[in-house]
Amino acid sequence: MNVRSVRGTHDILPGSVELWQEIEEKTRLLFRRYGYGEIRTPVLEETNLFCRSLGLETDIVQKEMYTIPARRGRDISLRPEGTAPVVRSYLENHLNRGSGLTKLYYVGPMFRRERPQKGRYRQFHQIGAEVLGSDHPGIEAEVMEMLHVLLDDLGVRGVRLLVNSVGCPSCRPAYVRILQERLLAESDLCADCRKRSRRNPLRVLDCKQASCSPVIDNLPSILDHLCRECRDHFRRFREFLDLIGVSYSVTPRLVRGLDYYVRTTFEMVTDRLGPTQNALLGGGRYDGLSELLEGPPAQGFGFGLGLERLVLLLSRNDQLAAGYRSPRPEIFFAYLNEDSLEKAFTLARDLRREGIFAYLDFGGRSLRAQMRLANRLGSRFVCVIGDDEIRTGLYSIKRMADGTQTRLQQGRISRHVRSA
Ligand code: AMP
Repeated sequence: MNVRSVRGTHDILPGSVELWQEIEEKTRLLFRRYGYGEIRTPVLEETNLFCRSLGLETDIVQKEMYTIPARRGRDISLRPEGTAPVVRSYLENHLNRGSGLTKLYYVGPMFRRERPQKGRYRQFHQIGAEVLGSDHPGIEAEVMEMLHVLLDDLGVRGVRLLVNSVGCPSCRPAYVRILQERLLAESDLCADCRKRSRRNPLRVLDCKQASCSPVIDNLPSILDHLCRECRDHFRRFREFLDLIGVSYSVTPRLVRGLDYYVRTTFEMVTDRLGPTQNALLGGGRYDGLSELLEGPPAQGFGFGLGLERLVLLLSRNDQLAAGYRSPRPEIFFAYLNEDSLEKAFTLARDLRREGIFAYLDFGGRSLRAQMRLANRLGSRFVCVIGDDEIRTGLYSIKRMADGTQTRLQQGRISRHVRSA
Protein backbone atom coordinates (compact mmCIF):
# COMPACT_ATOMS: atom_id res chain seq x y z
CA MET A 1 0.00 0.00 0.00
CA ASN A 2 1.46 3.38 -0.84
CA VAL A 3 -0.88 5.47 1.28
CA ARG A 4 1.02 5.97 4.52
CA SER A 5 0.69 8.07 7.65
CA VAL A 6 1.79 11.67 7.24
CA ARG A 7 5.45 12.40 8.08
CA GLY A 8 5.84 13.34 11.74
CA THR A 9 2.53 11.74 12.79
CA HIS A 10 2.03 8.29 14.23
CA ASP A 11 -0.61 5.78 15.22
CA ILE A 12 -1.04 4.81 18.84
CA LEU A 13 -1.86 1.12 18.67
CA PRO A 14 -3.55 -1.30 21.06
CA GLY A 15 -0.83 -2.59 23.31
CA SER A 16 0.64 0.93 23.54
CA VAL A 17 -2.55 2.87 24.04
CA GLU A 18 -3.11 1.30 27.47
CA LEU A 19 -0.16 3.25 28.84
CA TRP A 20 -1.61 6.46 27.40
CA GLN A 21 -4.95 5.65 29.01
CA GLU A 22 -3.37 4.99 32.37
CA ILE A 23 -1.45 8.27 32.25
CA GLU A 24 -4.60 10.15 31.32
CA GLU A 25 -6.68 8.47 34.01
CA LYS A 26 -4.15 9.19 36.75
CA THR A 27 -3.84 12.79 35.54
CA ARG A 28 -7.59 13.37 35.62
CA LEU A 29 -7.94 11.96 39.14
CA LEU A 30 -5.03 13.97 40.46
CA PHE A 31 -5.94 17.26 38.76
CA ARG A 32 -9.46 17.01 40.17
CA ARG A 33 -8.00 16.91 43.68
CA TYR A 34 -6.32 20.23 42.98
CA GLY A 35 -9.56 21.75 41.69
CA TYR A 36 -9.00 21.65 37.91
CA GLY A 37 -11.88 21.16 35.50
CA GLU A 38 -11.34 19.79 31.99
CA ILE A 39 -11.70 22.07 28.99
CA ARG A 40 -11.84 20.85 25.37
CA THR A 41 -11.18 23.58 22.87
CA PRO A 42 -11.26 23.09 19.08
CA VAL A 43 -8.18 21.91 17.22
CA LEU A 44 -8.78 24.77 14.75
CA GLU A 45 -8.42 28.39 15.79
CA GLU A 46 -8.06 31.69 13.96
CA THR A 47 -4.42 32.10 12.99
CA ASN A 48 -4.57 35.54 14.54
CA LEU A 49 -4.94 34.07 18.00
CA PHE A 50 -1.45 32.61 17.83
CA CYS A 51 0.14 35.56 16.03
CA ARG A 52 -1.04 37.93 18.73
CA SER A 53 -0.32 35.77 21.73
CA LEU A 54 2.85 33.85 20.90
CA GLY A 55 4.39 36.77 19.02
CA LEU A 56 5.16 37.29 15.34
CA GLU A 57 8.88 36.67 15.77
CA THR A 58 8.56 33.24 17.38
CA ASP A 59 9.58 30.05 15.57
CA ILE A 60 6.07 28.67 15.88
CA VAL A 61 4.42 31.62 14.14
CA GLN A 62 7.27 32.18 11.67
CA LYS A 63 7.53 28.66 10.32
CA GLU A 64 5.77 25.93 12.27
CA MET A 65 2.04 26.52 11.98
CA TYR A 66 -0.25 24.52 9.72
CA THR A 67 -2.39 27.28 8.30
CA ILE A 68 -5.40 26.97 6.05
CA PRO A 69 -5.82 30.16 4.03
CA ALA A 70 -9.33 31.51 4.15
CA ARG A 71 -11.41 31.60 0.99
CA ARG A 72 -13.35 34.33 2.65
CA GLY A 73 -12.83 35.75 6.12
CA ARG A 74 -9.88 34.86 8.30
CA ASP A 75 -7.15 32.23 8.05
CA ILE A 76 -7.35 29.35 10.46
CA SER A 77 -4.57 27.18 11.89
CA LEU A 78 -4.18 23.86 13.62
CA ARG A 79 -3.34 24.76 17.21
CA PRO A 80 0.39 24.58 17.95
CA GLU A 81 -0.08 24.93 21.71
CA GLY A 82 -2.82 24.97 24.32
CA THR A 83 -2.54 28.11 26.43
CA ALA A 84 -3.76 30.71 23.92
CA PRO A 85 -6.88 28.67 23.04
CA VAL A 86 -7.71 28.21 26.74
CA VAL A 87 -7.38 31.93 27.41
CA ARG A 88 -9.43 32.68 24.28
CA SER A 89 -12.18 30.40 25.57
CA TYR A 90 -11.90 31.81 29.09
CA LEU A 91 -12.56 35.28 27.72
CA GLU A 92 -15.20 34.26 25.20
CA ASN A 93 -17.19 32.18 27.68
CA HIS A 94 -16.74 34.53 30.66
CA LEU A 95 -15.24 31.78 32.77
CA ASN A 96 -13.94 34.43 35.16
CA ARG A 97 -17.42 35.05 36.54
CA GLY A 98 -17.93 33.18 39.75
CA SER A 99 -15.36 33.33 42.42
CA GLY A 100 -11.69 32.88 43.03
CA LEU A 101 -9.38 31.10 40.67
CA THR A 102 -10.29 29.46 37.41
CA LYS A 103 -8.37 26.20 37.07
CA LEU A 104 -8.56 24.37 33.76
CA TYR A 105 -6.75 21.42 32.22
CA TYR A 106 -6.69 19.89 28.74
CA VAL A 107 -5.44 16.77 27.02
CA GLY A 108 -5.16 16.73 23.26
CA PRO A 109 -3.17 16.95 20.03
CA MET A 110 -1.01 19.92 18.99
CA PHE A 111 0.53 20.52 15.58
CA ARG A 112 3.89 22.01 14.61
CA ARG A 113 5.77 21.75 11.35
CA GLU A 114 9.10 20.79 12.90
CA ARG A 115 11.77 18.43 11.60
CA PRO A 116 10.63 15.06 12.94
CA GLN A 117 13.02 13.06 15.13
CA LYS A 118 12.76 10.96 18.24
CA GLY A 119 10.63 12.86 20.75
CA ARG A 120 9.76 15.54 18.19
CA TYR A 121 6.73 15.12 15.95
CA ARG A 122 4.39 17.18 13.82
CA GLN A 123 1.31 15.96 15.61
CA PHE A 124 1.99 15.43 19.29
CA HIS A 125 -0.12 15.43 22.43
CA GLN A 126 -0.02 17.59 25.48
CA ILE A 127 -1.50 17.52 28.92
CA GLY A 128 -1.67 21.08 30.11
CA ALA A 129 -3.14 23.03 33.01
CA GLU A 130 -3.82 26.74 33.42
CA VAL A 131 -4.72 28.74 36.53
CA LEU A 132 -6.29 32.11 35.88
CA GLY A 133 -6.93 34.85 38.41
CA SER A 134 -3.86 35.01 40.63
CA ASP A 135 -0.40 36.49 40.40
CA HIS A 136 0.71 34.92 43.65
CA PRO A 137 3.92 32.88 43.51
CA GLY A 138 2.29 30.36 45.87
CA ILE A 139 -0.01 29.14 43.10
CA GLU A 140 3.06 28.53 40.94
CA ALA A 141 4.56 26.35 43.66
CA GLU A 142 1.26 24.50 43.98
CA VAL A 143 1.45 23.64 40.28
CA MET A 144 5.05 22.43 40.73
CA GLU A 145 3.91 20.26 43.59
CA MET A 146 1.04 18.79 41.55
CA LEU A 147 3.45 17.92 38.75
CA HIS A 148 5.82 16.35 41.22
CA VAL A 149 3.07 14.11 42.56
CA LEU A 150 1.94 13.20 39.04
CA LEU A 151 5.41 12.15 37.89
CA ASP A 152 5.95 10.28 41.12
CA ASP A 153 2.62 8.41 40.79
CA LEU A 154 3.56 7.44 37.26
CA GLY A 155 6.98 6.19 38.30
CA VAL A 156 8.99 8.80 36.33
CA ARG A 157 12.44 9.21 37.83
CA GLY A 158 15.38 11.50 37.19
CA VAL A 159 13.50 14.67 36.20
CA ARG A 160 15.03 18.01 37.23
CA LEU A 161 13.10 21.24 37.71
CA LEU A 162 14.69 24.36 36.18
CA VAL A 163 13.29 27.75 37.13
CA ASN A 164 13.88 31.31 36.03
CA SER A 165 12.29 34.73 35.90
CA VAL A 166 12.00 36.56 32.59
CA GLY A 167 10.99 39.85 34.18
CA CYS A 168 8.04 41.99 33.18
CA PRO A 169 7.30 44.79 30.71
CA SER A 170 8.82 47.32 33.07
CA CYS A 171 12.23 45.66 33.52
CA ARG A 172 12.71 43.33 30.57
CA PRO A 173 13.07 45.87 27.71
CA ALA A 174 16.17 47.41 29.30
CA TYR A 175 17.74 43.96 29.65
CA VAL A 176 16.84 43.05 26.06
CA ARG A 177 18.60 46.20 24.82
CA ILE A 178 21.76 45.32 26.73
CA LEU A 179 21.57 41.77 25.46
CA GLN A 180 21.09 42.90 21.89
CA GLU A 181 24.07 45.24 22.00
CA ARG A 182 26.25 42.40 23.23
CA LEU A 183 24.91 39.92 20.68
CA LEU A 184 25.33 42.23 17.69
CA ALA A 185 29.01 42.51 18.60
CA GLU A 186 29.46 38.71 18.60
CA SER A 187 30.72 36.90 15.53
CA ASP A 188 30.58 33.27 16.80
CA LEU A 189 26.84 32.70 16.68
CA CYS A 190 24.90 30.26 14.49
CA ALA A 191 22.92 31.69 11.56
CA ASP A 192 19.64 31.42 13.46
CA CYS A 193 21.04 33.27 16.44
CA ARG A 194 22.40 36.03 14.24
CA LYS A 195 18.87 36.53 12.99
CA ARG A 196 17.45 36.28 16.51
CA SER A 197 19.96 38.86 17.76
CA ARG A 198 18.26 41.40 15.55
CA ARG A 199 14.63 40.35 15.88
CA ASN A 200 14.18 38.52 19.18
CA PRO A 201 17.40 38.56 21.21
CA LEU A 202 15.96 36.69 24.20
CA ARG A 203 15.53 33.62 22.02
CA VAL A 204 19.30 33.34 21.63
CA LEU A 205 19.45 32.25 25.27
CA ASP A 206 17.34 29.23 24.30
CA CYS A 207 19.62 28.07 21.47
CA LYS A 208 20.58 24.39 21.72
CA GLN A 209 23.57 24.58 19.33
CA ALA A 210 26.75 23.59 21.11
CA SER A 211 28.68 26.21 19.15
CA CYS A 212 26.62 29.04 20.66
CA SER A 213 27.02 27.87 24.25
CA PRO A 214 30.32 29.60 25.09
CA VAL A 215 28.92 32.95 23.96
CA ILE A 216 25.62 32.45 25.78
CA ASP A 217 27.33 31.40 29.00
CA ASN A 218 29.08 34.77 29.11
CA LEU A 219 26.04 36.96 28.45
CA PRO A 220 24.60 39.11 31.23
CA SER A 221 21.96 37.30 33.31
CA ILE A 222 18.39 38.50 33.23
CA LEU A 223 18.26 37.86 36.99
CA ASP A 224 20.63 40.78 37.53
CA HIS A 225 18.24 43.09 35.68
CA LEU A 226 14.89 42.36 37.34
CA CYS A 227 12.87 45.17 38.90
CA ARG A 228 12.20 44.95 42.61
CA GLU A 229 8.68 43.44 42.16
CA CYS A 230 9.97 40.70 39.87
CA ARG A 231 12.88 39.98 42.21
CA ASP A 232 10.51 39.67 45.19
CA HIS A 233 8.15 37.47 43.19
CA PHE A 234 10.94 35.11 42.18
CA ARG A 235 12.29 34.94 45.72
CA ARG A 236 8.81 34.12 47.12
CA PHE A 237 8.36 31.42 44.48
CA ARG A 238 11.62 29.76 45.54
CA GLU A 239 10.69 30.08 49.22
CA PHE A 240 7.47 28.21 48.52
CA LEU A 241 9.40 25.50 46.67
CA ASP A 242 11.71 25.16 49.67
CA LEU A 243 8.71 25.01 51.97
CA ILE A 244 7.25 22.00 50.15
CA GLY A 245 10.63 20.37 49.63
CA VAL A 246 10.68 20.51 45.81
CA SER A 247 14.26 20.89 44.60
CA TYR A 248 15.17 23.06 41.61
CA SER A 249 18.02 24.77 39.78
CA VAL A 250 17.90 28.45 38.93
CA THR A 251 18.67 28.67 35.20
CA PRO A 252 18.97 32.21 33.85
CA ARG A 253 19.09 30.91 30.26
CA LEU A 254 15.59 29.52 30.53
CA VAL A 255 13.53 32.16 28.73
CA ARG A 256 11.26 29.84 26.68
CA GLY A 257 10.19 30.67 23.20
CA LEU A 258 7.01 32.65 23.50
CA ASP A 259 6.36 36.36 23.92
CA TYR A 260 3.57 36.02 26.43
CA TYR A 261 5.69 34.83 29.36
CA VAL A 262 6.43 37.18 32.26
CA ARG A 263 8.21 36.52 35.54
CA THR A 264 8.34 32.81 36.42
CA THR A 265 9.26 30.30 33.72
CA PHE A 266 10.14 26.67 34.31
CA GLU A 267 10.92 23.38 32.65
CA MET A 268 11.26 19.83 33.81
CA VAL A 269 14.08 18.10 31.98
CA THR A 270 15.71 14.70 31.88
CA ASP A 271 18.88 13.35 30.29
CA ARG A 272 17.03 10.25 29.18
CA LEU A 273 15.35 11.87 26.18
CA GLY A 274 18.51 12.80 24.30
CA PRO A 275 20.46 16.06 24.22
CA THR A 276 18.09 18.25 22.21
CA GLN A 277 14.70 16.95 23.36
CA ASN A 278 15.41 17.02 27.05
CA ALA A 279 12.31 18.99 28.11
CA LEU A 280 9.45 16.84 29.33
CA LEU A 281 7.31 19.83 30.14
CA GLY A 282 7.49 23.57 30.42
CA GLY A 283 5.47 26.62 31.25
CA GLY A 284 5.29 29.86 33.11
CA ARG A 285 3.36 32.98 33.94
CA TYR A 286 1.49 34.97 31.29
CA ASP A 287 -0.19 37.89 33.03
CA GLY A 288 -0.48 40.07 29.92
CA LEU A 289 -1.90 37.42 27.57
CA SER A 290 -5.53 38.29 28.18
CA GLU A 291 -4.84 41.92 27.22
CA LEU A 292 -3.00 40.83 24.08
CA LEU A 293 -6.30 39.18 23.14
CA GLU A 294 -8.18 42.39 23.97
CA GLY A 295 -9.60 40.99 27.19
CA PRO A 296 -9.59 42.54 30.65
CA PRO A 297 -6.43 42.10 32.73
CA ALA A 298 -6.16 38.49 33.93
CA GLN A 299 -3.19 36.82 35.50
CA GLY A 300 -2.33 33.33 34.42
CA PHE A 301 0.09 30.51 35.02
CA GLY A 302 0.32 27.12 33.35
CA PHE A 303 2.32 24.37 31.68
CA GLY A 304 2.30 21.92 28.79
CA LEU A 305 3.60 18.38 29.15
CA GLY A 306 4.47 16.29 26.08
CA LEU A 307 2.73 12.93 26.25
CA GLU A 308 4.96 11.27 23.64
CA ARG A 309 8.02 12.15 25.70
CA LEU A 310 6.39 10.91 28.88
CA VAL A 311 5.47 7.64 27.16
CA LEU A 312 9.05 7.30 25.87
CA LEU A 313 10.34 7.66 29.41
CA LEU A 314 7.89 5.17 30.85
CA SER A 315 8.30 2.60 28.08
CA ARG A 316 11.96 2.36 28.95
CA ASN A 317 11.00 1.61 32.46
CA ASP A 318 10.70 -2.14 31.83
CA GLN A 319 8.72 -2.89 34.92
CA LEU A 320 5.92 -0.60 33.83
CA ALA A 321 6.04 -1.49 30.16
CA ALA A 322 5.79 -5.21 30.95
CA GLY A 323 2.52 -4.60 32.78
CA TYR A 324 0.75 -3.54 29.59
CA ARG A 325 -0.70 -6.22 27.36
CA SER A 326 -4.04 -6.48 25.67
CA PRO A 327 -6.77 -7.79 27.96
CA ARG A 328 -7.45 -11.55 28.10
CA PRO A 329 -10.98 -12.71 27.30
CA GLU A 330 -12.79 -14.09 30.31
CA ILE A 331 -14.76 -16.51 28.18
CA PHE A 332 -14.39 -17.59 24.55
CA PHE A 333 -17.44 -19.00 22.76
CA ALA A 334 -16.57 -21.57 20.11
CA TYR A 335 -19.28 -22.86 17.79
CA LEU A 336 -19.80 -25.57 15.18
CA ASN A 337 -22.15 -24.02 12.63
CA GLU A 338 -24.36 -21.03 11.87
CA ASP A 339 -27.13 -22.25 14.24
CA SER A 340 -24.79 -22.57 17.17
CA LEU A 341 -23.22 -19.20 16.22
CA GLU A 342 -26.60 -17.59 16.81
CA LYS A 343 -26.76 -19.08 20.30
CA ALA A 344 -23.16 -18.08 21.01
CA PHE A 345 -23.96 -14.58 19.78
CA THR A 346 -26.81 -14.05 22.25
CA LEU A 347 -24.93 -15.72 25.11
CA ALA A 348 -21.96 -13.42 24.54
CA ARG A 349 -24.27 -10.42 24.37
CA ASP A 350 -25.92 -11.32 27.71
CA LEU A 351 -22.59 -11.84 29.47
CA ARG A 352 -21.18 -8.56 28.15
CA ARG A 353 -24.22 -6.80 29.57
CA GLU A 354 -23.17 -8.22 32.90
CA GLY A 355 -19.71 -6.74 32.46
CA ILE A 356 -17.86 -9.85 31.30
CA PHE A 357 -15.35 -9.80 28.43
CA ALA A 358 -16.82 -12.48 26.12
CA TYR A 359 -15.03 -13.27 22.85
CA LEU A 360 -16.63 -14.55 19.69
CA ASP A 361 -14.70 -15.30 16.51
CA PHE A 362 -16.02 -14.40 13.06
CA GLY A 363 -13.04 -15.67 11.13
CA GLY A 364 -14.77 -18.75 9.63
CA ARG A 365 -12.41 -21.03 11.59
CA SER A 366 -12.93 -24.71 12.28
CA LEU A 367 -13.68 -25.70 15.86
CA ARG A 368 -10.10 -26.82 16.34
CA ALA A 369 -8.76 -23.50 14.99
CA GLN A 370 -11.13 -21.61 17.31
CA MET A 371 -9.71 -23.57 20.27
CA ARG A 372 -6.19 -22.68 19.20
CA LEU A 373 -7.18 -19.01 19.00
CA ALA A 374 -8.75 -19.15 22.49
CA ASN A 375 -5.44 -20.49 23.78
CA ARG A 376 -3.41 -17.86 22.03
CA LEU A 377 -5.57 -15.07 23.46
CA GLY A 378 -5.17 -16.57 26.93
CA SER A 379 -8.92 -16.88 27.47
CA ARG A 380 -9.73 -18.08 30.99
CA PHE A 381 -12.78 -20.14 30.00
CA VAL A 382 -13.99 -21.72 26.79
CA CYS A 383 -17.53 -22.78 26.03
CA VAL A 384 -18.18 -24.91 22.92
CA ILE A 385 -21.71 -24.63 21.56
CA GLY A 386 -23.17 -27.45 19.49
CA ASP A 387 -26.62 -28.94 18.84
CA ASP A 388 -26.65 -30.73 22.21
CA GLU A 389 -26.14 -27.56 24.17
CA ILE A 390 -28.90 -25.81 22.27
CA ARG A 391 -31.28 -28.75 22.82
CA THR A 392 -30.60 -29.26 26.55
CA GLY A 393 -29.90 -25.66 27.54
CA LEU A 394 -26.83 -26.86 29.45
CA TYR A 395 -23.44 -25.43 28.57
CA SER A 396 -20.07 -26.99 29.25
CA ILE A 397 -17.65 -24.36 30.55
CA LYS A 398 -14.00 -25.39 30.51
CA ARG A 399 -11.52 -23.67 32.79
CA MET A 400 -8.33 -23.44 30.72
CA ALA A 401 -5.93 -23.33 33.67
CA ASP A 402 -6.68 -26.91 34.74
CA GLY A 403 -9.08 -28.29 32.14
CA THR A 404 -12.00 -28.77 34.56
CA GLN A 405 -15.44 -28.77 32.90
CA THR A 406 -18.65 -27.59 34.51
CA ARG A 407 -22.10 -27.99 32.97
CA LEU A 408 -24.30 -25.03 33.68
CA GLN A 409 -27.57 -23.40 32.71
CA GLN A 410 -27.25 -20.13 30.88
CA GLY A 411 -28.20 -18.02 33.91
CA ARG A 412 -25.37 -19.45 36.00
CA ILE A 413 -22.50 -18.88 33.62
CA SER A 414 -21.63 -15.34 34.70
CA ARG A 415 -21.41 -16.21 38.40
CA HIS A 416 -19.16 -19.17 37.56
CA VAL A 417 -16.84 -17.06 35.41
CA ARG A 418 -16.67 -14.34 38.04
CA SER A 419 -16.02 -16.61 40.98
CA ALA A 420 -13.19 -18.50 39.39
P1 AMP B 1 6.38 23.90 24.50
O1 AMP B 1 4.95 24.29 24.29
O2 AMP B 1 7.23 24.03 23.27
O3 AMP B 1 6.99 24.46 25.73
O4 AMP B 1 6.33 22.34 24.75
C1 AMP B 1 5.89 21.77 25.96
C2 AMP B 1 6.17 20.29 25.90
O5 AMP B 1 5.50 19.72 24.80
C3 AMP B 1 7.64 19.96 25.63
O6 AMP B 1 8.38 19.93 26.82
C4 AMP B 1 7.54 18.60 24.99
O7 AMP B 1 7.39 17.59 25.95
C5 AMP B 1 6.27 18.71 24.20
N1 AMP B 1 6.54 19.05 22.78
C6 AMP B 1 6.73 20.27 22.22
N2 AMP B 1 6.93 20.18 20.90
C7 AMP B 1 6.88 18.86 20.60
C8 AMP B 1 7.01 18.11 19.39
N3 AMP B 1 7.21 18.69 18.21
N4 AMP B 1 6.91 16.77 19.48
C9 AMP B 1 6.69 16.15 20.66
N5 AMP B 1 6.55 16.80 21.81
C10 AMP B 1 6.64 18.14 21.80
